[in-house]
Amino acid sequence: MCDVIVLGAGITGVTTAYLLAKEGRKVCVIDREPAAAMETTYANGGQISVSHAEPWAHPGAPAQVLKWLARKESPLYFSPRADWRQWVWLASWLGQCRRSAADRNTVAILDIALRSRELYREVREAEGIQYHLKSLGILHFYRVRREFENACRMADLMTLHGCTRRPVSREEIDRIEPALARNRDIVGGTFTGEDESGDARQFTQALAEICESKYGVRFFYRTRIDDLAAAGGRIEAVRITGSGGRKDDLRARDFILCLGSYSPLLAGKLGIFLNIYPAKGYSISVPLNESNERYAPRVSLTDDENKLVYSHLGTHLRIAGTAELAGWNTTLSYHRIRPLVEKSAELFPGVFEGMDYRNPDWVMGRLAPWTCLRPSTPSNVPYVGRSRKFHNLWLNTGHGTLGWTMGMGTAAMLAGMMGEYTRRHE
Ligand SMILES: Cc1cc2nc3c(=O)[nH]c(=O)nc-3n(C[C@H](O)[C@H](O)[C@H](O)COP(=O)(O)OP(=O)(O)OC[C@H]3O[C@@H](n4cnc5c(N)ncnc54)[C@H](O)[C@@H]3O)c2cc1C
Repeated sequence: MCDVIVLGAGITGVTTAYLLAKEGRKVCVIDREPAAAMETTYANGGQISVSHAEPWAHPGAPAQVLKWLARKESPLYFSPRADWRQWVWLASWLGQCRRSAADRNTVAILDIALRSRELYREVREAEGIQYHLKSLGILHFYRVRREFENACRMADLMTLHGCTRRPVSREEIDRIEPALARNRDIVGGTFTGEDESGDARQFTQALAEICESKYGVRFFYRTRIDDLAAAGGRIEAVRITGSGGRKDDLRARDFILCLGSYSPLLAGKLGIFLNIYPAKGYSISVPLNESNERYAPRVSLTDDENKLVYSHLGTHLRIAGTAELAGWNTTLSYHRIRPLVEKSAELFPGVFEGMDYRNPDWVMGRLAPWTCLRPSTPSNVPYVGRSRKFHNLWLNTGHGTLGWTMGMGTAAMLAGMMGEYTRRHE
């Protein structure tokens, strides 16, 4: 019945299913949630940010991380665990902080992200998908001169490799985004006019519907993936449990792993090590109306020092960020949401005017607080390609901080590799 089974219906799974189905393959997608994009793709920062290609692992990062760990409400939280995966990940992350590795990873991510941004344009035009798109660029801003100077160096590297990210003065920042004009502590920024923002959940769910109605993709929702049955160097079937508790095996020619932070757990059952560790993040969505909308930024923003991003998504201002290395824990506490609220209220007081935003119950009830796990590799470069151990198991996973940005690009890379493999072996 299925020729290809895609495991996971987040942005990576749905874009992969779409491109393969367009090529005429019979695709099935399995996910435990009742719809597509209900986990990490659900309420992310909304940025299609090629200009954010520099990974967290860079030469200044270890010192910055130590400084953050000493701060009470830092954007980074580390909870040491008796889990070898965490320590292996940290050791490789430190290795990726070398200048040569950081530059190489930045260029690799740029290549994927540039292609991805182009493909999003093609797909939304071809399929007519609406997702609160804003093509107004992305502005990174800095309060510390040294951080601004480092960003200018990175901007030069990116510009050299095809993403025009240019340094902008304080005055230019005010022109690009007047909502920032009252923040006099900002010393400079960088601007990438071609970057975009939009709602990743809306896009993914709309694309999933198109996959189903136009290209015959079959979605198995509310279906848990328990294991993969392997024999003779190939995957034979995926073992699933449906909503009524019914167990089944689904067979196919190819299987694609797109389970986000849960990919290494399934791969581990087959003896495959994927160096992906969850980096937990948070977001809030502040409602906008006639009275507060004029104070909200329209251009998508990145506050690099606080690791926060801001995107205007239709009726809401989405604010997302922070990273916790604390295992596969998805509990949501006000304690971690509060810094997002305070930082954004400080930056855009007009948006929060009249809101009871210091009241925890009000925040948790009205600002749609959300948390999820970024599937992070130490380099932030995802796994895309065929597994070495099983010739029909393909990987498209580990997109970390940039799964929305790189999703369409890695799907196209994988579809290309699968097509090439089939041509060579048939
Ligand atoms: C706070 C925050 C802000 C972010 N901001 C941005 C941003 O501005 N720009 C950007 O580019 N990226 C951003 N990201 C990163 C981006 O959201 C992720 O990289 C991306 O969503 C990962 O997509 P995915 O398809 O790999 O994973 P997911 O969306 O998590 O999809 C995996 C799917 O697998 C399913 N699944 C898992 N295990 C099983 C199982 N056993 N059985 C069945 N189904 C299963 C899940 O239900 C899920 O639907 C942000 C992330 C966070 C947390």
